[in-house]
Amino acid sequence: MLVFELLLVVLFGFFLAVLASFFEVVMVRTARGESFTQGRSKCDHCHHKINWYDNIPILSFLWLRGRCRYCQQPIAKTYFWTEVVAFLFGVVFYLVYISWPFLQTLPIAQVVLYFLFSFILFFVLLADLKYLLVPDLLVGLLTVLALLLQFCYGTNWILPVASVLFSIIFFLLLSFVAKKIFKKEALGLGDVKLMIPLSLLLSWPKTALSIFLAFIIGGIFAMLMLLTGRKKFGQVLPFAPFLILAAVISFGFGEAIWQWYFAFLL
Ligand SMILES: [Zn+2]
Repeated sequence: MLVFELLLVVLFGFFLAVLASFFEVVMVRTARGESFTQGRSKCDHCHHKINWYDNIPILSFLWLRGRCRYCQQPIAKTYFWTEVVAFLFGVVFYLVYISWPFLQTLPIAQVVLYFLFSFILFFVLLADLKYLLVPDLLVGLLTVLALLLQFCYGTNWILPVASVLFSIIFFLLLSFVAKKIFKKEALGLGDVKLMIPLSLLLSWPKTALSIFLAFIIGGIFAMLMLLTGRKKFGQVLPFAPFLILAAVISFGFGEAIWQWYFAFLL
């Protein structure tokens, strides 16, 4: 039984490593301005096409000892580590699932949707940290998952849709004002797009709370960066990580924060 379960976890982790490998291709090709459907993977050095058996997540890198089969040049480690992280993400999720009774009361399809949502969101976070971009494909996938979650398990349609409209209008206005003040693009369109699936899933009032928290956390972080001299004023700071962190906090602890805040006010 234990062996079967172990095998299942390894297979699950491996499936995620395959997905991760694909997402990494999407991120790298988006960063280079290429289409991610453009042909098979090639070696960065000798441009030799990579065969499927040299393209197996995690294993091929170990098997080839991190070097191209044809030119012996090192393969970028970023793919390998992304795949390892994805594998561990799966293992940790499985452990959380079996030790958290609340998750087990939910329909399995809902758990899978939530899991995929958080997994892809994690890659949006990586993409913004590594390449300062938010890939459209990943935002599109998140939107589909958020729609499915609201459609199958949501109780109300008006609030999620209103939340999306609120976020779009809020960020577009903000980006317009910021452009007038700083005379350049201060807020990426990717951040605005990312708010569509996040608002859809968070609904109201958690969307407002998450935007508020994102600016507080981002503001504190930017201040620390300026004070320690790591960034100069006017330098680009990825904003999606703050939006994601704030959305996760809002999703998990929104009610608690709300209650604490009103208890504090009254
Ligand atoms: Zn090569």
